[in-house]
Amino acid sequence: MKIMKFGGTSVGKPARMHEVARLATADKEPKIVVLSAVSGTTNALVAISQKLALGERDAARLAIDALETQYQNFIAELVHTDAALEKARAVLQEHFEFLHIILRISWSEALNKDILAQGELLSTKLFCTYLEEQGLRYALLPALDFMRIDEHEEPQLDTIRTLLGAMLQQHAGTGLFVTQGFICRNARGEVDNLKRGGSDYSASLIAAAAGASVCEIWTDINGMHNNDPRVVDRTLPVSRLSFDEAAELAYFGAKILHPASIWPAQQHNVPVKLLNTMDPGAEGTLITGDATAPGAKAIAAKDGITAVNIKSSRMLLAYGFLRRVFEIFEKHRTSIDMITTSEVAVSVTIDNASALPAILEELGALGTVSVDGDQAIVSIVGQEIASDTSMLQRVFSSLEGVEIRMVSYGGSLHNISLLVAADKKKDVLQRLNKGVFGL
Ligand code: ADP
Ligand code: ASP
Ligand code: MG
Repeated sequence: MKIMKFGGTSVGKPARMHEVARLATADKEPKIVVLSAVSGTTNALVAISQKLALGERDAARLAIDALETQYQNFIAELVHTDAALEKARAVLQEHFEFLHIILRISWSEALNKDILAQGELLSTKLFCTYLEEQGLRYALLPALDFMRIDEHEEPQLDTIRTLLGAMLQQHAGTGLFVTQGFICRNARGEVDNLKRGGSDYSASLIAAAAGASVCEIWTDINGMHNNDPRVVDRTLPVSRLSFDEAAELAYFGAKILHPASIWPAQQHNVPVKLLNTMDPGAEGTLITGDATAPGAKAIAAKDGITAVNIKSSRMLLAYGFLRRVFEIFEKHRTSIDMITTSEVAVSVTIDNASALPAILEELGALGTVSVDGDQAIVSIVGQEIASDTSMLQRVFSSLEGVEIRMVSYGGSLHNISLLVAADKKKDVLQRLNKGVFGL
């Protein structure tokens, strides 16, 4: 069994969806095709939900109508027989009727999740209409029937395995399964999701649950590049990564992979391949449990970082101080990315500042607290780079004159992380591209 996940741009146009069908039926190996929403749809749904939350019903209605027009145009090119068009129209009617009904309901967080789920529900059902028109056999596996997260928003892999296994069994003999990425049910049984970009995570969870031979992530670029191609000129694809390297890159901001998407595949040793739908013959990136050759592979950056500094003379020689600091972050379910300490101060970074006011209040009892928002973590990732003595030298000499607020070195053998002001990120990435990769 092979998993093929196609992202938003890979299903973003009718012709792209046709190509997805071609790729998914190119060989006889059984597969589960995991689809994202058509590109732009989730953003449009977020905007609609925000308008509703603000009580701007007319604006929300206009946005829903504009989205519906886009989809009417989409299906006119996707399918051609009267029967298929009728089915596609029925799909649109069902989901846009839902969106119009919610205009009359008061907004809630649960409703927001229902709204966001419409994108993947639409893309998969429309894709199936096309498969049917082409006379291709398939089974649609509703992700809401097997993808589960617990009360801490953690995927429940054992439950997913049991539920998905039963569904696959029910359709034994079918070689092509289609399901939604991103969406799931939470511990309360409500529709929920795996956060933005979560279809990669869905694919990896499904790969682990189904014991897949490979998890293919099909996107719009030839695999993981050595640096962020949206920000940096001259980047190159990386052909091999270990799970550890890919997990660090995903976690520290390489947008091609959802931050948590590597662990399920890694835990079940399912190779992950990053491939390009626009250039299916390109090599892409292969990610496995094998160690790669030592050296830097890629640089990633994580935005929206806040640094918190706690200064206390009481810290001097006081054991238990760090524990008390960590307990406060733990209590507020806020994870720490970087940490540095001195005799009198500790600095940590967080990427989720939603509980910051409460955290600061409690930290205030331990010492003097200061906060720097608008920071970015830049991570240089590669097999054993932390034991390469020349690497730090290259990093620092290429960043001469840039203020580096924190350095994390040695925590992981494969990662050197730097904290810089967000407005310096582009310059830092570009300079490191030259200093570390000679590009
Ligand atoms: P999809 O919709 O297929 O999930 P995404 O937009 O989420 O695609 O991810 C692919 C994009 O990630 C690329 O188009 C690229 O702009 C961006 N990206 C950021 N960092 C990297 C990187 N290091 N290597 C490749 N792509 C990257
Ligand atoms: N459609 C969702 C998003 O745009 C999930 C995904 O594409 O991976 O975030
Ligand atoms: Mg993505």
